[in-house]
Amino acid sequence: MPPAHSLPPMRKPFSLSVSARVILLTVVVWIGLLAGAHVMQDRIFRPTFVAIESDLVIKDLERVEAAVAREVEQLSRVVDDYASWEDMRAFIGAEEGAPLSRAFKPEILTSLDLDAIFVFNAIGRVRHSLTRKDDSVLAGSPEYTPTGFANQFPVIASVRTQGGGGRSSQGLVRFRSGRLVFAVAAPVPGATPQDPALGTVVMLRELDDRGARRLADQVRLPVVIAAKEPTGGVSPSAREATPVLENNQIGASAWLRDPFGLPIAEYSITRPATILTQGEGTLLSGEVASVVVLSIVLLCLILLLQWSVIRPLARLTRIVESVRRTGDLSVRIHEKRSDEIGLLAHNFDRMLALLDERTRTLEELATTDGLTRLANRRTIMEHVTQLVNAANDGTLLSVLVIDVDHFKRINDTVGHSVGDRVLRHVAAVIRKAIGPNAMGGRLGGEEFLVVVTGLVKGDVVRLAETVRAAIAESPVQGVDWPVTASIGVGHYAGHTVHGLLATADLNLYRAKGAGRNRVVADEVAASLLPAASVPPPPGGGVLII
Ligand code: GH3
Ligand code: MG
Ligand code: MG
Repeated sequence: MPPAHSLPPMRKPFSLSVSARVILLTVVVWIGLLAGAHVMQDRIFRPTFVAIESDLVIKDLERVEAAVAREVEQLSRVVDDYASWEDMRAFIGAEEGAPLSRAFKPEILTSLDLDAIFVFNAIGRVRHSLTRKDDSVLAGSPEYTPTGFANQFPVIASVRTQGGGGRSSQGLVRFRSGRLVFAVAAPVPGATPQDPALGTVVMLRELDDRGARRLADQVRLPVVIAAKEPTGGVSPSAREATPVLENNQIGASAWLRDPFGLPIAEYSITRPATILTQGEGTLLSGEVASVVVLSIVLLCLILLLQWSVIRPLARLTRIVESVRRTGDLSVRIHEKRSDEIGLLAHNFDRMLALLDERTRTLEELATTDGLTRLANRRTIMEHVTQLVNAANDGTLLSVLVIDVDHFKRINDTVGHSVGDRVLRHVAAVIRKAIGPNAMGGRLGGEEFLVVVTGLVKGDVVRLAETVRAAIAESPVQGVDWPVTASIGVGHYAGHTVHGLLATADLNLYRAKGAGRNRVVADEVAASLLPAASVPPPPGGGVLII
């Protein structure tokens, strides 16, 4: 098992990538804003709009109430003028049956837009009455007759007894038949203000459909008025009305009261809740627009983040991961940006370059001989072992074991440092003489190994001869005599590495014995070689005699 630090950190089961986190956060913010906008609309704007609409509809109800009061007021002025008219005083004081002036004829009803006029004398007897209603109406609504009216509304009919202050006892009333009628009365004054009133004039104007339309025209809204008894004791005035919102319409109803304070008719108003619908529409489009803008902004942010951070980071991660996996230190990120990511990539590239350089140095130190710069013993031995392991019968593979002659004498005579110089010199000569197709290395001391491939025996011997001659013919500074070397050659013929090197060693020994500064490349019989010089026979190496 590899050590824990060589593995990438364990991914937790529910951990998210950076982009997934950004998207998640964006969605959360987006939903939050939508919910916020919705709550604002529901909790703040809509109640405000509803309050404004309610105020408006209550004001509308009040305007109807005011229109009713205005109509009573206007009618009161008419009846006052009429009652205090000279002709009226003359008429009420005259004998019955006297000729009527024009003001007592039926046309006056049309010109004053009235449904009835009653004139009572001081003792409450009817002196005159005019009505526009036909007999069928009169049969159903006896209040349109002076007696019927005086019976239901004695207070209004006897306003003469109250002097001039009877205003509060006149207004809109409800007949028993259910008709709503403006009923106003005025006393007919005596000759002087001190004299008692001579009688009463009562004027009636029905609030029929035409009258309701007139009211609706004044408030510029459709008004529905219905005479009725309050049920359940609830009869709010305009100010106390409760508006109801339904299907984008706001409506409210309130009660009209007669002069005695009794609720007599309910009226209602319904109007389109324009402020609410338009306001909500505007808010909705604002909300949609802001959601669209927000989405675009968030999308741009995500893309920007993706482009500027996440993608370069992913690339960086991929490259680092590949370096970790393959160990190839030659890759570079080459990020051209000048921001933090660019700096990170640049520094990472520099670190890789430094690591690559140091690794090479270490590799060189581990494989090269420090003094001669040739391959060291381990490297050259690995090389020859690999070649022998891969070799077969036809493989052309040879080794030269080169040993400097009488090297001890050089050390002893001119010193170790010159001896080292001789070793460096001999190594350089070997490197140059063998060319690029063979590999040279230092076995140790003043002994070198050259591994030659692809050359037939004759060429190998010629190469060894070239090396020997090159060493012998090149003088070394500080050594007065020619430095020579002896070379033993071994050709591969199914040996083990050990056997191949032993062959060369034996030939080197022979070269030394024959007087040094020569090449020996004899064939060496297997019997002269140590036991491990040839591979064991197939079948497990058991020798059967
Ligand atoms: P021969 O001709 O038989 O090979 O005799 P030789 O003197 O070359 O061989 P011997 O093995 O007797 O001496 C080798 C000497 O090489 C002994 C040792 O002091 C010297 N030597 C080994 N390594 C180094 C080295 O790195 N630098 C120097 N200067 N001398 C070394
Ligand atoms: Mg030696
Ligand atoms: Mg020697």
